[in-house]
Amino acid sequence: MSTTVLITGGAGFIGSNLVRLVLAERPDWHIVNLDKLTYAGHRSTLDGVMDHPRHRFVVGDIADRATVESLFAEARFDTVLNLAAESHVDRSIDGPAIFVQTNVQGTQTLLDAARRHGVSTFVQVSTDEVYGALGPTGLFTEDTPLAPSSPYSASKAAADLLCQAWHRTYGLDVRITRCSNNHGPRQFPEKLIPVVISRALADRAVPVYGDGSNIRDWIQVTDHCRAILAVAESGRAGRTYNIGADGELSNLELVRLVLEHLGKPESLISFVRDRPGHDWRYAIDSARARDELGWSPARDVGAALRATVDWYVAHQDWWRPLLDRSAS
Ligand code: NAD
Repeated sequence: MSTTVLITGGAGFIGSNLVRLVLAERPDWHIVNLDKLTYAGHRSTLDGVMDHPRHRFVVGDIADRATVESLFAEARFDTVLNLAAESHVDRSIDGPAIFVQTNVQGTQTLLDAARRHGVSTFVQVSTDEVYGALGPTGLFTEDTPLAPSSPYSASKAAADLLCQAWHRTYGLDVRITRCSNNHGPRQFPEKLIPVVISRALADRAVPVYGDGSNIRDWIQVTDHCRAILAVAESGRAGRTYNIGADGELSNLELVRLVLEHLGKPESLISFVRDRPGHDWRYAIDSARARDELGWSPARDVGAALRATVDWYVAHQDWWRPLLDRSAS
């Protein structure tokens, strides 16, 4: 039986990788891809699949009731995978309002429409950042209290709470994923890994916040996308699933790995003033997703990161125009 799925934010980094995965591995799924094409969304992330017969691209805002309502009425979605978001922490510090509008009001608009139009499964793609920061030991579990630090993570936490309420109050089958930091092809070149690569290739200083000791837990983007599909297909209503690949690295270790792989000197590293409210460490316990869903990520985090670096080196024609446009 065929499935009609709404993927929101499908012209962004993770969404476009998810669209590609679904088209490749779910031959019965028909995708409607709703994306506002903000500064972070680009048609070029969908090169080669934009005109696929099972992919329909719609430019529109998840927070716009009229757009969302008419799309749901017309398409009769079985499943919603909500990835659309304002996603950059630094931008949320400079201008939080759009984060509340898209991440909170946008999610509510989709939840309302899903309820009205009898959607079977709604997956909210959230982030481990809703848990705040860890000290040197311990891992985030799904029971870790929400303690977001930035306007970005606060808006994602607010959306998670709305999802839980729509499940408990209205009985909507909502499932939440909370994933650690993603790396892989087609990430907008304002984020750490593409920034390091683009600057290192130009022999320019590579900025590192504070002393570089902040720790992030890295996962390859397709591993994350496979987890989203596993949650949609085998997860339980109302349940939250942490997604991670045991890929802890300090920012300094990560930058060193990238520079070494590019054959560039560590002298390019330039320590800059720390981000306000910068969470010190994230680390994910993903035992629930592994045990209940049979999902598991690729093992070797270093090899996966090196493959990501190779992709950016080989696809400069993809990211250079985006970088030039955002600089102008
Ligand atoms: P991204 O910024 O690369 O892409 C976001 C996409 O959403 C863009 O295509 C943008 O045009 C679109 N969008 C923004 N506002 C919209 C709106 N109002 N209506 C419709 N579309 C809109 O982000 P990403 O890194 O691909 O993240 C995708 C999702 O995954 C987000 O919800 C984010 O919170 C979550 N997440 C990201 C990471 C990560 O490491 N990148 C980790 C965990 C969770």
